[in-house]
Amino acid sequence: MKKMIMAANWKMHLGPAGAREFLVAFLNGYRSSPDRDVWFFPAGVSLATVAGITREHAEMRTGAQNVYWEPKGAFTGEMSVSMAREAGATVALVGHSERRHVFGETDEETGKKVRALLQGGVTPLLCVGEKIDQREAGRTIEVVEQQLAAVAGLDRAALEQLVIAYEPVWAIGTGKTATPADAAEVHGAIRRWFVDRGLDGRNVSVLYGGSVKPENAGSLISEPEIDGVLVGGASLDPAAWADIVSAGID
Ligand code: PEP
Repeated sequence: MKKMIMAANWKMHLGPAGAREFLVAFLNGYRSSPDRDVWFFPAGVSLATVAGITREHAEMRTGAQNVYWEPKGAFTGEMSVSMAREAGATVALVGHSERRHVFGETDEETGKKVRALLQGGVTPLLCVGEKIDQREAGRTIEVVEQQLAAVAGLDRAALEQLVIAYEPVWAIGTGKTATPADAAEVHGAIRRWFVDRGLDGRNVSVLYGGSVKPENAGSLISEPEIDGVLVGGASLDPAAWADIVSAGID
C-alpha cells in the first residue's frame, strides 16, 4: 500500500540543539498512523541528530535539503550524496524553488543531482512548480513538464524511485495555498507524465507544498490526487507539525 508522506522542510532553521528540542516536543504528543510516513529535512549540520533521534520510528525518514552531484573534490561548501547518507539521510530534496530561484539552480543541475542520488541509493524528492506570471499566462502544466524533462532520460526503474512535490512558487511562504482542485489538476498532469513513460500512475507519490498549515492540511490530503504534503514554515512549530502529521485522523 502506498503511504501518505508528511514531509517537513526546516530550511535554514534549527541547528542540532534546536532540532533535538523540537523532536522532544513533537514526539511527546505524536502517535504514528499506519497510513503515513513522516520525513524531516533538517539543515545539513542537523542531519545526524535528527536521524539518530528518529531511528527507532520505522515510519520516519531523514533527508538532506541539498546535495552536490560530484562524489568528492574541491567543491567548497557542498555535501556529496555519500556524506549525506553517512549522516543519516535516506532521501533528499532536489529542485526546491529556493534552490532554483534564489541560487539559480538549472534543470540540468537538478537532473544531475537526481542521477547522483539514485546512484548513491538515496531517494530524490523532486520539487516542481510554476511562478505566478507563468500561472497567469496559463503555462503551469508546460512549466512543470519542462522541469520534469530534467529526468526524462532515466529508465523506468529509476523513475519509479522518484517522489515528486508540486510546489507552486507563489504559494511558498506566502500564506496563499492552491485549492485542492487546482493542485489536483497539476498532480494529475504529473502522474500522466509518468504513465506516458510506462509507470503505474497509482504508485507515483505526488506531494503538495505551499503554505500548508493545520487548518488546510486535512482538506488538501483528502483530495485523492494529493499523496502527502511538503511543509516549510508550519513544520517549525512542533504542535502545528503534529497537527499536520495527524490531519484527517479522528
Ligand atoms: C517549502 O519550503 O517547501 C514550503 C512549502 O514552504 P511553506 O510551507 O512555508 O510555504
